[in-house]
Amino acid sequence: MAKFENIITRFAPSPTGHLHIGHAYAAAQAFNFAKRHNGQCLLRIEDIDTSRCKPEFTQQIISDLHWLGHQWPEPVMVQSTRFEIYRQALQTLIERAITYPCFCTRKEIAAANKHPPGPEGIVYPGTCEHLDYETTKKRITKGEPYVIRLKMDSALGLLKNHDLHWIEGVGLEAEPQKRLEVAAAQFGDIVLARKDTPTSYHLSVVVDDAAQGVTDVVRGQDLYFATHIHIVLQALLGLPHPRYHHHPLLTHKGGPKLSKSDKHRPTPTIKSIRDQGLSLDDLEEMITDHLKAV
Ligand code: GLU
Repeated sequence: MAKFENIITRFAPSPTGHLHIGHAYAAAQAFNFAKRHNGQCLLRIEDIDTSRCKPEFTQQIISDLHWLGHQWPEPVMVQSTRFEIYRQALQTLIERAITYPCFCTRKEIAAANKHPPGPEGIVYPGTCEHLDYETTKKRITKGEPYVIRLKMDSALGLLKNHDLHWIEGVGLEAEPQKRLEVAAAQFGDIVLARKDTPTSYHLSVVVDDAAQGVTDVVRGQDLYFATHIHIVLQALLGLPHPRYHHHPLLTHKGGPKLSKSDKHRPTPTIKSIRDQGLSLDDLEEMITDHLKAV
């Protein structure tokens, strides 16, 4: 198994709100992993969703990460400055004839409901894959919004001689490591570019991990399934495959993971902890409590 040398990992928050204690735990996993292996942890701001992301959240994230004691090399990568680069990656996939425009609304997709849900929710029923060229062209010319989807079956066909797998570090330590086989068909035709942006989370994350030379992705278990898709996209774009380390998530007692959007169970933000004058030790205690809550 590969040695843990010249490690580069990253912490990649989305500035759609304030960091909460779950993010503090995730950041510690990534930054401490780099420290333990004499490597570097980079910061990347994942703000492709320009309607939900706000510069003031980015400023607060940077201030909170400093308060948490983390340091990273400058410049920070900011995804909203890289749309042209994602567009080029998308173009590569379009030219390989493994994509198609899709005009379906969420409602239409839910109503078609042909497949059992995949690990990431509803699997796209493939409606627009069968639209003829003229119809597609007409709808685009009319200005109808569309996403670009990956033809998963065709993509996997192109990759049939690739040994699609990833190395998962267990418990964030050098040993043991597991080899996991990619099973991407279950996700169906995933979105590569959204209606409002020329990219998607999946596309920009693989482009940027490669651009930043990331050797080890340390992130929460909620993104475990996305890894199947990321390995496929890396193979299609000729990008290297980092190792992956998916850490546990903090949870509320008896169940759900902490979330910034759960109004019934507000999760303490780092800002609120700082505003109350609490210390890093207090934060540590809160994190330990939530780790035990499962
Ligand atoms: N931006 C993602 C998030 O905030 C993390 C992406 C990743 O680590 O791959 O959940």
